[in-house]
Amino acid sequence: MVIAAMPVGEYDRRITILTSERGKISAFARGARKPTGALLACSQQFAFGQFVLYEGRDSYNLESAEIRTYFGDIRNDMNAIYYGMYACEFALYMSRENVQPGQILNLLYVTMRALEKAQMPKKLIRRTFELRYLTEDGEMPEVYECLNCHRESLLDDDHVWFDAEKGGVVCDSCNLKDRGIRMSRSTLYTLQYIVSSPLEKLYSFNVNETVLNEVDRVVEEWVKVRVGHYMKTEDMLDMF
Ligand SMILES: [Zn+2]
Repeated sequence: MVIAAMPVGEYDRRITILTSERGKISAFARGARKPTGALLACSQQFAFGQFVLYEGRDSYNLESAEIRTYFGDIRNDMNAIYYGMYACEFALYMSRENVQPGQILNLLYVTMRALEKAQMPKKLIRRTFELRYLTEDGEMPEVYECLNCHRESLLDDDHVWFDAEKGGVVCDSCNLKDRGIRMSRSTLYTLQYIVSSPLEKLYSFNVNETVLNEVDRVVEEWVKVRVGHYMKTEDMLDMF
């Protein structure tokens, strides 16, 4: 999937493709901005398919592509476009070159589909994407047992606490100083679902306003601690 596309010179583009084989790859798309160019469409951000590259002197060059989808349905909704761009920027920042990215490409694919379908609030799609991304990347918070007493029956409790600095949840009786974010059992269950659900079912749930706000705060905090980078497209979310 093309996760970034930048104009170069008068007619060309430099693109970054997230691949299932080698992580992100940067490539030069010659003539990609000529109106009649064969690479015009396939070198746009969000283009998803099979790309043929050849190795040039100092970079890969895009030769051709067979595009399976451009996720065209999100283009009717400016907000959805920006959320899609945000997901791409997140992947661009987090992914590495020449490293097999595991499930990340599939995660990006189902996220774009969820934005197209528009059945879930976009804020929930964003937080689900971020938490699952970090989980796939080896940065899963502890959401199954208390970090202090290791008790696993946390879904029996009325509420627990999320302590991002410590790395996950702490039960109420262990959290004497009320550190972190208080969250309900439904929010805890939602976090467990996000880190463990099969990808094809990841975006088939919904939550009430209270849970949405708690998930929002918890994942925001987790991203702040584990990623600590400001994405440019963040400013554009929910502007429309
Ligand atoms: Zn405990």
